[in-house]
Amino acid sequence: MPNRTPPPATRAKGLGRRLAELRGPDVPARALDARALAALAANPGCARRAILDGAGVDKARLASALGAPSGFGQSQFALTRGNAFEARVKADGGAELLRLAHTRLDPGAEPPAGAAVPDLTAHGPEGRTARTALALREATRAGGWTLLDHPMLALDVAGSFAFLEPDAVVVHPDGSWSVVEIKSFPMLDGSADPAKVGAAARQAAVYVLALEKVAARLDPVPRVRHRVLLVCPKDFSNLAAGRAVDVRKQRAVTARQLARLTRIEEIAEALPEGVCFAPDRSAEQLTAAVAAVPATYAPECLSACELAFHCRERSREAGAVTRLGRSLRAELGGLSTVEDVLAAARGETGEPDDPAVAALRRAAALRAEALAEVSACP
Ligand code: SF4
Repeated sequence: MPNRTPPPATRAKGLGRRLAELRGPDVPARALDARALAALAANPGCARRAILDGAGVDKARLASALGAPSGFGQSQFALTRGNAFEARVKADGGAELLRLAHTRLDPGAEPPAGAAVPDLTAHGPEGRTARTALALREATRAGGWTLLDHPMLALDVAGSFAFLEPDAVVVHPDGSWSVVEIKSFPMLDGSADPAKVGAAARQAAVYVLALEKVAARLDPVPRVRHRVLLVCPKDFSNLAAGRAVDVRKQRAVTARQLARLTRIEEIAEALPEGVCFAPDRSAEQLTAAVAAVPATYAPECLSACELAFHCRERSREAGAVTRLGRSLRAELGGLSTVEDVLAAARGETGEPDDPAVAALRRAAALRAEALAEVSACP
């Protein structure tokens, strides 16, 4: 029997074509950044998000076309302020940034005077990824401090490559590598908003994973540090403050979640012919296309995905219990809709020895008892 499985290169081309069809003719692919990847890893069961991100669909535009714009993402003002702060931190060959890397991450090393800042210019994301890998190898061999300004890294996400651009990567004199995240939220007396630091740590963890893939191809394998450098404005001023953030936990969680993502190839194959998310389609066509891909909405989507309002509405219409939160969903076992839950509580459906059903009936009995007592009161 001849082997009919196409070779990997042919399969990759076929997948690329299919993803381009889903995106729409002549619609450029939107790059997947670490923020999006961290959010994707936070909801690994959502095939809808996986295929939209894998195909490079602009989800913010799609959400608007569906009539449910999210307002998710950074304002233009915040972007401009962030870019200006980053430029200041990286001025003079990154002297301030390297000083912070030295004091916060590697105080025992020699001071970073005369650090190298290699040119990473190349054509296209693939070219920039190759140029970054070469610069990292050369810097590791050369010793001393090197600053890679906006390097490009590639990470295999569910069978399709995502190109990632950290703010900076520092190569230390001992040959180890560190990720640098530059944010525009303030650091007051050395501490910042824990939620914002947590989000930055999740993004940095994605970069650490991508850097580890580059390191694994070198011999000897350089150490990728799991303490990253977070740089923020100091006390609302223009000065920079740095803090080392341990991302071991975020790295482990993200690696596990990314490994659980359903392969984009499988999701694409399961979609009916003609499904397309092109922005020039009508709202009805786009609604049908989005509905063709299963989603797992949870309240966490509201702070992580541009389609959250659309998916929340659909989840509400379907009476799905997932919209009440993942922990409650887990407590309810096989009961997946509000209707099922109420029927089980009333004793109309469900096995009495099912712990979820038993708990619901007990709760319903207690409620009835309490209401009876209230109505019996004079
Ligand atoms: S908002 Fe919708 S598409 Fe986005 S992760 Fe949640 S369920 Fe998936």
